[in-house]
Amino acid sequence: MYRFQEKIDSCIDCKKCWEVCPANMVTEGNLFTPQRKIGSLAKIVAGEELTQDEMDNIYLSTRCGACDDVCPVDIPITDIIQYERELLAQQGREPAKTTAISKNILEHNSPGAMDPSKRFDWVTHDLEIAEESEIAYMAGCWVAYSQPDIARSTIRLLNHAGIKPMLLKEEKCCGLFLIDNGHLEEAAEHAKKFVDYIESLGVKKVIASCPGCYLVLSREYPDLYRELNFEVEHSLNIFKAMINDGTLKPEKLDYTVSVRDACPVRKSKDVPRDILSSMGVEIKELFDGKQVCCGGPAGLKPNFPGISSDIAMLSVNDYKENADMLVSYCPFCMHHIGGVCNSKDEDLDMKDISVLLAESVFGSMGE
Ligand code: SF4
Ligand code: SF4
Repeated sequence: MYRFQEKIDSCIDCKKCWEVCPANMVTEGNLFTPQRKIGSLAKIVAGEELTQDEMDNIYLSTRCGACDDVCPVDIPITDIIQYERELLAQQGREPAKTTAISKNILEHNSPGAMDPSKRFDWVTHDLEIAEESEIAYMAGCWVAYSQPDIARSTIRLLNHAGIKPMLLKEEKCCGLFLIDNGHLEEAAEHAKKFVDYIESLGVKKVIASCPGCYLVLSREYPDLYRELNFEVEHSLNIFKAMINDGTLKPEKLDYTVSVRDACPVRKSKDVPRDILSSMGVEIKELFDGKQVCCGGPAGLKPNFPGISSDIAMLSVNDYKENADMLVSYCPFCMHHIGGVCNSKDEDLDMKDISVLLAESVFGSMGE
């Protein structure tokens, strides 16, 4: 009996996971279903050769969790995919790009080996940032290097509420990619270094703009390393509390938007909607409220750019049918969907909720 065998054997072949998987939605022939992904575990455990489709299927997953959410017999599909990737990495069979990105995170502190001296290029003179504080702001790699407006708007809103956070001068990638790809020992080592560093600063709360960073620090690090001596909060939760207590007073914005929900925090979809409602923004749900990933994370984008781009276009096409704008609260969704539309010369009106909120509270100067 191998790990997860009993779970996999409990599959009742209902095919519910087929319908919700974005990788399966944009490809023909049902070759890349979640059910088929977990069906390869026996062969992987035995070290047997996989067909190309079987091998691709293991890496054709963003670990968005949509399959976990619908499986009627609670098979932990994303945990099984993570375990399959862990074994394949140990057997030297993971894709070269996955290995390279993991190395970048460990050696250069970002998935794209970006220049660490540019991590804080988003900081402008008007932002009030403390040298030392019990509250720290973590932008995360995708905000810092690709979506600086999110960090600026967030700090402006925090400043307006009287909060002057410090920055983590040795900010690191959270390591979500390592976790998604089963590099758990390396992720644990990485978590230890980052947590020890944050605690050495006397920080009591870390505010994260990226839902991925938020999830990894608050839920994964305690498993990988130990309970943290600081709180972790997603910026949207802070904004919602500030709107509720009257600290932030949004003005009405005349938009109809669709919300590109972030998979790591998909269980708290009411938070972004409450913030949008406070700005009087009308919401038209994407995919009738069903969760469909942007198609970028966990190595799907670098390993299968065409499929990843087709998945991104599902959100773009759907919002254009119903709304003026696509709003997001994940910098990686912004980065991925923005890049795809750029490469196709496709018009895109997409904004992060923190940027929209700053616009609503401060006028267009907030951008
Ligand atoms: S986690 Fe998402 S992308 Fe991966 S198999 Fe499940 S539904 Fe498909
Ligand atoms: S949803 Fe669960 S039970 Fe149904 S086919 Fe997929 S893995 Fe099997």
